[in-house]
Amino acid sequence: MPARSAATSVARRLIDAGHTALFAGGCVRDGLLGKTPKDYDVATSATPAQVLALFPGSNEVGAHFGVVIVKQDGIHIEVATFRTDGSYKDGRRPETVEFSTPPEDAQRRDFTVNGLFQNPETNEIIDYVGGLADLETRTLRAIGTPGDRFGEDALRLLRAVRFATVLGFEIEPVTWQAVCDHADDLAKISPERIRDEFSKLITAPARRRGLELLVDSGLIRHIVPEVLALIGCEQPPQWHPEGDVYTHTRIMLEMLPADASLELCLAVLLHDIAKPPTFTIDPEENRIRFNGHDALGAEMAEDILRRLKYPNDVIDAVVPMVARHMQFMNVQKMRVAKLKRFMASTEFEDELELHRVDCASSNGFTDNYEFLLEKRAEFASQPLIPPPLVSGRDLLAMGLKPGPQFKEWLEAIETEQLEGRITERGEALNLLHELTEKSRN
Ligand code: ATP
Ligand code: MG
Repeated sequence: MPARSAATSVARRLIDAGHTALFAGGCVRDGLLGKTPKDYDVATSATPAQVLALFPGSNEVGAHFGVVIVKQDGIHIEVATFRTDGSYKDGRRPETVEFSTPPEDAQRRDFTVNGLFQNPETNEIIDYVGGLADLETRTLRAIGTPGDRFGEDALRLLRAVRFATVLGFEIEPVTWQAVCDHADDLAKISPERIRDEFSKLITAPARRRGLELLVDSGLIRHIVPEVLALIGCEQPPQWHPEGDVYTHTRIMLEMLPADASLELCLAVLLHDIAKPPTFTIDPEENRIRFNGHDALGAEMAEDILRRLKYPNDVIDAVVPMVARHMQFMNVQKMRVAKLKRFMASTEFEDELELHRVDCASSNGFTDNYEFLLEKRAEFASQPLIPPPLVSGRDLLAMGLKPGPQFKEWLEAIETEQLEGRITERGEALNLLHELTEKSRN
């Protein structure tokens, strides 16, 4: 455990200098739950200035809140001075902080299970907030009066649901009621901070329950309100015996592998986001029709992800998955070149998984999925898109002027190559001559 030993040596250095130093928060909680903590936070009586003096070259970011980032053996350890937060005026951050004692520091933390300390040398747990009892019963409970604590910092509303989801804990009833009562305060929180908590929730194995808690509490109104339109959005029962789009989406989230990527989880959440705005009842047949929700779905997904400030690489992965998910119904009809290009997408493995759960949660069809598995095995020996046999340079050498046709011609050659009808450069050049013949004359 390199992170733990790095944190222990940081704590020991503080203790040797005469300060108190304890492990705090998430690392203590996760250790007690038998999980390997992602990172270790150290809480100390040393002031930021004293911490900086002991660990020269540390990062001062947040020092005015009492936080110094110490780098030890290549690992970043957050060292925070015991503190009491002053009043919160904006519902986001305290106006001032005052350095204080361990019991007071525990009181400013969000949930009892996050308010535990541990002596790094004896491993003794120090519990000022009833966190041990709540860990035992797997209960998420705000420290202090829930309504007040959520009023101070509205991000805690979302953190409550995120921790309940990730840890698999029940939210204590008074805490839950306060989350519901204060849900609209989440509007005060920046999209970036909402995004970071939301990403942890939607990638958790229990992401279905996470989404349900967001919907049931009302928090979803300030994250992805479009999800609310999925509720009660009926679908043709012959394809969707499971019910409305919300149910379909929830079952899919549940069926994903525990370690599904963020992109896949977001794509599943958003894959049918445009069904509500595109559905109409066909009066003749008296049934629901969806008018090509793929394009609008991609547009809506992009708007949603931009609003939440997801980085471009995430957006560029999720949006095509949403746009392409209906094309999986046609894969068996695609000619080889088209199929290979389709499968060559960087997100193909995630898309295949999306397709699998899309069918498994509704009609139960597996033929397209199995077809693609077969094709994947069949094509595995070579790259899906092999190195080109000819290039623009060949066209220039033939005395042709660059233009939009270059792309068309080269694509036509690539198609022949993907179809397996040509394999050698000589064949490709002959074909190129034939193709370009017309435009020469
Ligand atoms: P994770 O496993 O997600 O890192 P964590 O408990 O370590 O979980 P962090 O966001 O890293 O969560 O915060 C570290 C600790 O700081 C928390 O355990 C909690 O004690 C305290 N904390 C963090 N954010 C808040 C907040 N908004 N209000 C009160 N206390 C907070
Ligand atoms: Mg943490």
